[in-house]
Amino acid sequence: MAINESFFIFRSARFCFFAYILNVYADFGEKKRGSMILPVNGKFEMPALPYAKADLVPVLTAETIEFHYGKHLQTYVNNLNAALPGTAFEGKSLEEIVKTSEGGVFNNAGQILNHALYFLQFAAPKEGNAPTGKIADAIVRDFGSFEKFQEEFQAKGAGLFGSGWVWLSADASGKLVITQEANAQNPLTKGLTPLLTFDVWEHAYYIDYRNRRPDYMKALWSIVNWDVVNERFM
Ligand code: MN
Repeated sequence: MAINESFFIFRSARFCFFAYILNVYADFGEKKRGSMILPVNGKFEMPALPYAKADLVPVLTAETIEFHYGKHLQTYVNNLNAALPGTAFEGKSLEEIVKTSEGGVFNNAGQILNHALYFLQFAAPKEGNAPTGKIADAIVRDFGSFEKFQEEFQAKGAGLFGSGWVWLSADASGKLVITQEANAQNPLTKGLTPLLTFDVWEHAYYIDYRNRRPDYMKALWSIVNWDVVNERFM
């Protein structure tokens, strides 16, 4: 092998190594940025659904998606965008607004964040759908089994009085916790990382399940996209 040739190979290997390191840092940066919802030209946008509005049938009908996503969430987005100009929250991420605001700004920002986490965690129904990967191990570690976790999660959702959300979150040490949050609250304000949520406001289930909140929650397990939950648990 000519000296020039081996030098070229050495340089290429060195280049690949540095490219790899840069890539690792770029990925890390991407994840950090990816976890934040930012305004575009001063306005928050509707989160794009990763499925068609009839894809979650029979768990959630297209009509529910039309109203819950298309009208309720759109209203929170419109309200927040109308409230932001001239405030200290202009240009801030949604997460930062949720952590530092109160009143109407908090209610609308919280509901946008909550609904983005809710709608983006679903996929077409799958029979026997169950957690996979790291989150599956953590659920067994912290709740004993997936079934015991579901039982506690559903009981806390059914037992929440009025409007709100039941959440699975991770604390700073990675331990999983289930919390009930009223109205527009998000576990982020308690220093937790939200991973999975069931919306238990009546508007989330009344079209498809009328007053049967427990039936709605039971059905949701088949549309949870555990890959998304694992990404949030990184
Ligand atoms: Mn809702």
